[in-house]
Amino acid sequence: MTEKRVYTFGNGKAEGNAQMRELLGGKGANLAEMNLIGVPVPPGFTITTDCCNEYYKIGQEKIIKVLESEVNGAVKHIENLMNSKFGDTTNPLLVSVRSGARASMPGMMDTILNLGLNDEVAEGLVAKTNNPHFVYDSYRRFVQMYGDVVLEMKPVNKEDIDPFEEIIEEVKAERGIKLDKDLTVDELKKLVKLFKEAIKERTGKDFPNDPIEQLWGAICAVFRSWMNDRAILYRKMEGIPDEWGTAVSVMAMVFGNMGETSATGVCFSRDAGNGENLFNGEYLVNAQGEDVVAGTRTPQQITKVGSLRWAQRAGISEEERASKYPSMEEAMPDIFAQLNDIQEKLEHHYRDMQDMEFTVQEGKLWFLQTRNGKRTGSAMVKIAIDLLHEGMIDEKTAILRCEPNKLDELLHPVFDKLALQKANVITQGLPASPGAACGQIVFHADDAQDRHADGHKVILVRIETSPEDLAGMSAAEGILTARGGMTSHAAVVARGMGKCCVSGAGGINVSYKDKTVEIDGQLYREGDYISLNGTTGQVYAGEVPTKAAELSGDFKELMDLCDKYTKLQVRTNADTPHDASVGRAFGAKGIGLTRTEHMFFDDKKIIAMREMILADTPEGREKALNKLLPYQKADFKGILEAMDGLPVNIRLLDPPLHEFVPHDLVGQQVMADEMGVDLSTIQRRVASLAENNPMLGHRGCRLGITFPEITAMQTRAIISAACELKKEGKNPKPEIMVPLIGTVAEFRQQKAVILKSARRTFDEYGFKLEFEIGTMIEIPRAALTADLIASEAQYFSFGTNDLTQMTFGYSRDDIASFLPAYLDKKILKVDPFQVLDQEGVGQLIHMAVEKGRRVRPNIRTGICGEHGGEPSSVKFCAKLGMNYASCSPYRVPIARLAAAQAAVEE
Ligand code: PEP
Ligand code: MG
Repeated sequence: MTEKRVYTFGNGKAEGNAQMRELLGGKGANLAEMNLIGVPVPPGFTITTDCCNEYYKIGQEKIIKVLESEVNGAVKHIENLMNSKFGDTTNPLLVSVRSGARASMPGMMDTILNLGLNDEVAEGLVAKTNNPHFVYDSYRRFVQMYGDVVLEMKPVNKEDIDPFEEIIEEVKAERGIKLDKDLTVDELKKLVKLFKEAIKERTGKDFPNDPIEQLWGAICAVFRSWMNDRAILYRKMEGIPDEWGTAVSVMAMVFGNMGETSATGVCFSRDAGNGENLFNGEYLVNAQGEDVVAGTRTPQQITKVGSLRWAQRAGISEEERASKYPSMEEAMPDIFAQLNDIQEKLEHHYRDMQDMEFTVQEGKLWFLQTRNGKRTGSAMVKIAIDLLHEGMIDEKTAILRCEPNKLDELLHPVFDKLALQKANVITQGLPASPGAACGQIVFHADDAQDRHADGHKVILVRIETSPEDLAGMSAAEGILTARGGMTSHAAVVARGMGKCCVSGAGGINVSYKDKTVEIDGQLYREGDYISLNGTTGQVYAGEVPTKAAELSGDFKELMDLCDKYTKLQVRTNADTPHDASVGRAFGAKGIGLTRTEHMFFDDKKIIAMREMILADTPEGREKALNKLLPYQKADFKGILEAMDGLPVNIRLLDPPLHEFVPHDLVGQQVMADEMGVDLSTIQRRVASLAENNPMLGHRGCRLGITFPEITAMQTRAIISAACELKKEGKNPKPEIMVPLIGTVAEFRQQKAVILKSARRTFDEYGFKLEFEIGTMIEIPRAALTADLIASEAQYFSFGTNDLTQMTFGYSRDDIASFLPAYLDKKILKVDPFQVLDQEGVGQLIHMAVEKGRRVRPNIRTGICGEHGGEPSSVKFCAKLGMNYASCSPYRVPIARLAAAQAAVEE
């Protein structure tokens, strides 16, 4: 039997179902499923995602041969159900051709509507429908879309508008009309002709008249769109593998542009911006799908509540709203009732918020798509918790519904309320994607990328956005558009990215050419600052100050739920009391890594530190260390106090000493004066510290071994800080960690120094307290000999930054020079310094944990490299039964969620 490549659906039957999204893509699988549960869907068929990969292997000509008989049969299937014929000149069938990957990629790939039209078919359709305006409006849209997507007609310069829009504008200008819908049949016919001529002139290609040729062109163009720049970038951002491919769904056309009883729209079963349980969406009467998402006409709201809110925000009177922009609930109450029932049915069926597309053709409602809706981080959390409370999902599902990395959005700063009261609102748009953003205005996506790369915060200001702007939107802090509703491209994509966005700000006047935007009579230029409030839609002049977010409400409830299931605890990496408090407020159960060297970058401390390094006798070092001791003690006291009652793992000095010494003349002179030696002595010592390979040089425990007085001083500072807190009635829990161990002998030597210094300090205070001594595992040899090391060390903390560096042999400071090529050539899938390499580095961790446990069954194990805040790496550690992951304070909730998911997935 040959492989099945085409799956039909229609009339309540389907060859596929919702479980087949890998093969049929999300759209294809859900179109099949909707048929099976009785939702009205136009008949059609889906070509599998495997065929997309096959297309890239064997090419256009061969894939057409392979698919030909199945596609012909499937077209017949549609013809039978629709009682019309593809390419027929008396009773023609038109189809749409849509993309649909396994994971939804809104707006990233291509769609073609009204396919099957040519001059003869158009005339036939006029005779059939008696509606020449509709027919020629559909025809000009088809030529436009086909020209753009299949024949690849593009604007010449980035400042130019779409070449087809340019022609439309010219034709409208000839008669002095403003709206597309006022074009006459003759003008629409003229557009068709002009479009075809422009295509020939610009691309050298003839517009194909044969509907079958059109169909193959469109199917292959959808396959091709899998590899367009924006789809590639989107996959990179969302971690979607290139191998998945897109399916192609071909469906009978239903028309929202057949007159005043026809419409088209997009709706959501809940609010995708804030998660509120409120059915919402937008529609346009007498329009086709792209009109709603393109933002070229102002869409109307589906519900009356939504419409009232919209009018209030836009400053539109009730009279104007009710007459010009009535909701569907008011204007088409019967259709609205059906729509409302079906959206409820779909949400219950999928048990998640749905994002749906529909068309009303002459009073009959059709669903064209449903998918789990993209949402912001805060909507994600609210919807999961609400669905849990409503009994639609259980606790474990609620945890799994939330994507750890998306929590990042909830941790971003929000506008300071007091500052907001004083800020100057200059205009109001739609609250398309919540959050606070301020930055310098830019008008083009590539300018946003360039300025962002130069370290500036930017706000991308556009008349409307298109999928080409994706990279610029990603680089910007926020997006402001003049046109487009809540379901416009800008809004949908910004919400998916968790990017602050205000759309449809009708009061702004953008000139791409002059790079200016006029707001409320004032001209703003590229580089001027504005601030956006994506939660209210307000736009402010200048920079409005922000403040840190906090863990409360649904977010807190989710985190509490995580604690109920998690096995792996989360600590924070913190070098200051402030970081420790932030981490603790986000739920950290202690500190997994305090890098003591970060404490020395301060005016006075660095001088004492440099003196210690530049001294060339033990006495000289001792003297400088005595100066450092009180600073270190105060620092440790602050941190231990902020984490009172919870463990604090403090690492002894780690980096190469030359990082601390002055390399400039002024700095060297300061040190010479401070130490009472001449400049040349300092310069000689600085030169002697230079190393060929500092990352593998005199650093880590090697410092403590060559200069044991450093280890002794740091231990003394830690223990005395703890003793003082104890005397104040606090409960400090210090842990002392030796870095960069490769052999057990190194550890043993440092442990002896620590114990001796601790004993002495306890004697001074006259009492003892408990503390632990452990080590980092960050050199492959330490992992290989972890059993020997565990006989001495009370705990292991995996320093996966160095462990990755030394396992791959990639310098962590120099990887940027070859990483892009490695990713490009698919030698690496991801940056191993961001995502733990489970296959290689992970094997060393696994082995070290097991060897450690063999010798010390309860040995505590944790991770403290950058991977400790990366969800897949955290899950890996959880699966090994490690005790904790430690990450930067702002990633603590992300790691908590990932850890809970690992427990739930077990
Ligand atoms: C590590 O190597 O993973 C680590 C946490 O230490 P550092 O990044 O300070 O070298
Ligand atoms: Mg390290």
